[in-house]
Amino acid sequence: MFFVSFFTSRFNYERTLSVFSIVKIEEKMENLGRFDVIVIGAGVMGSSAAYQAAKRGQKTLLIEQFDFLHYRGSSHGESRTIRATYPEPYYCPLVMESAKLWTDAESEIGYKVYFKTQQLDLGPVNNSSLQALIANCEKHSINHQVLDCHRAKEYFTGKIDFPDDWTAVVTELGGVLKPTKAVAMFQTLAIKHGAVLKDKTEIVDLVNDRGGILVSSRSGEKFWGKKCVVTAGAWVSKLIQKVSNGETILPIQPVETTIFYWKIKEGHERDYTIEAGFPSFASYGEPYIYGTPALEFPDLIKVAVHGGRECDPDKRTWRDETAGTEGMTMVVGYLKEWIRLRFGDGVNWEDGPVISQSCLYSMTPDEDYIIDFLGGGFNEDVVVAGGFSGHGFKMAPLVGRILVDLAIGGKAAAETLGEEIKHFKLGRFEGNPRGNVKEFEDQVRLR
Ligand SMILES: Cc1cc2nc3c(=O)[nH]c(=O)nc-3n(C[C@H](O)[C@H](O)[C@H](O)COP(=O)(O)OP(=O)(O)OC[C@H]3O[C@@H](n4cnc5c(N)ncnc54)[C@H](O)[C@@H]3O)c2cc1C
Repeated sequence: MFFVSFFTSRFNYERTLSVFSIVKIEEKMENLGRFDVIVIGAGVMGSSAAYQAAKRGQKTLLIEQFDFLHYRGSSHGESRTIRATYPEPYYCPLVMESAKLWTDAESEIGYKVYFKTQQLDLGPVNNSSLQALIANCEKHSINHQVLDCHRAKEYFTGKIDFPDDWTAVVTELGGVLKPTKAVAMFQTLAIKHGAVLKDKTEIVDLVNDRGGILVSSRSGEKFWGKKCVVTAGAWVSKLIQKVSNGETILPIQPVETTIFYWKIKEGHERDYTIEAGFPSFASYGEPYIYGTPALEFPDLIKVAVHGGRECDPDKRTWRDETAGTEGMTMVVGYLKEWIRLRFGDGVNWEDGPVISQSCLYSMTPDEDYIIDFLGGGFNEDVVVAGGFSGHGFKMAPLVGRILVDLAIGGKAAAETLGEEIKHFKLGRFEGNPRGNVKEFEDQVRLR
C-alpha cells in the first residue's frame, strides 16, 4: 500500500513538477519581450522604421548596440544633402515622396530638421552622370534650369565660378537635413506611438521560433518578434553572415569617409548661407565633390569628396585625417584646388580645412541600396536594409515606411511596392557581382 501510494504520490509529484515546469517555461516566454516588430539598429533607417511601425499600432522594439545618437555609425552629425537630382531614374520619385514625409514628420514633432534651399549640380558638359541627371529631371518633371557657364556665373554672381566647358543644373528640391536631430526626432515619435527603445544591447543572434523570430543579445537577453527588421548599417554584413551561419553574405563594404569644414573669408560670411540663397551642391567629375551651405557652424562651409577607404567598423583608426596619410593629402589637395577655382576669394582654401569629421559609408558594388527579405530559412520574417552607399539619409522616411510595409505585408506588399524596390533586391547580385548596370561612372571614389 505504502509502495503504491508512494508511487502514486511520486507520479503525481512528478506530474505536478512537470506541469509546473511547463507553466514556468511558458511564463518565462511570456516574460520575454514579445513584439510585433523588432528593429535592430537605431541609425536613421531603424529609427524611422520603428516610428512607422509604432504609428501603425504595431508593438515595436528598437534595439541599438551602442548609446542612442552615438557617433560610430553613419547617421550622426550636422548635415546631409537632400536632392532629387540623380543619374539613376529610379531615385528621383523616391526622393520626392521622401521629401513630403520629412515635412509630415516635422509637423508631428513640431520642429525643423529639413532646411530647404536649391540644389546645384555642376560639372563638365559632357559628363555622362550629369547628362543622365538632366534627362531624369525632364522625365520626372522636376522643376529645373540648365545653365551654360555664362548664365550660371550670372545666377551665382560673386559666389561660384564656372569654367567655359561646364554646365549647371539648378533644382528647387534641395537643402540640408540635420542628421542627429532627425534621428532623435524619429526616436521621439516612435516612443510617442508606444515603441520600446533599448540601447547598449548588441544583437548577436536571430533564430526562427514559434512562428516568429527570437532575437538574442550578447549579454543573453532574449526578445521575440513576429517580424524583424535589420538596419545595422556598416555592421549589417557581419551580423547577417553570423545569423545565417555563413550562408548569406551581403555585398556591403564599410568605408570610412571624412568630411571637412572650411572657413569663409571675412566679408563673405552671408554669401554662403541659405538665407542668401546659397544651394546645396554636387560637382560631377573626378572626384565627385559635394557640400552644403553654411548652417551648422557659423562662417564655415562643408565641402568634401564623396569617397573613403575600406575599413572594419569595429577597428577604426579615428586618427586625425588631416594629419597626413598619402590618400588624405591627395583628397585635401583636390578640395583646395576645387574651392580655389569655384569659390575664388570667398572661402579660405589656402590654410586647409578647420574641422574634419569621420563617418561610415556602407557601399554596395553598384552604389544602390539593399532593401529586401532576408530569405533563406527566415523567409519573409526578416527584412534587411543596408548598403545605402553614402546617399541614404534623404530617403530615410520612405525607407522606414517601405520596411514596415514589407515586414507586415510580406510578399503581397513587395508586389504592390513593385517599381519602388525593384532595383534594391538582393537577387540582383546572383551570378552578377557588379549588380545593377549603369551607363555612367561611379560616384564614390575609394582609395
Ligand atoms: C559623411 C557622410 C555624409 C553623407 N552625406 C549624405 C548626404 O548628403 N545625403 C544622403 O542622403 N546621405 C548621406 N550619407 C549617407 C547616410 O548618412 C546613410 O546612408 C545613413 O545614415 C545610413 O543609415 P543606417 O541607419 O543604415 O546606418 P547607421 O546610421 O550606421 O545605423 C545602423 C545602426 O545599427 C547599429 N547596429 C549595428 N549592428 C548592431 C547589432 N548587432 N545590434 C544592435 N545594433 C546594431 C549601429 O550601432 C548603428 O547605430 C552620408 C553619410 C556619411 C557618413
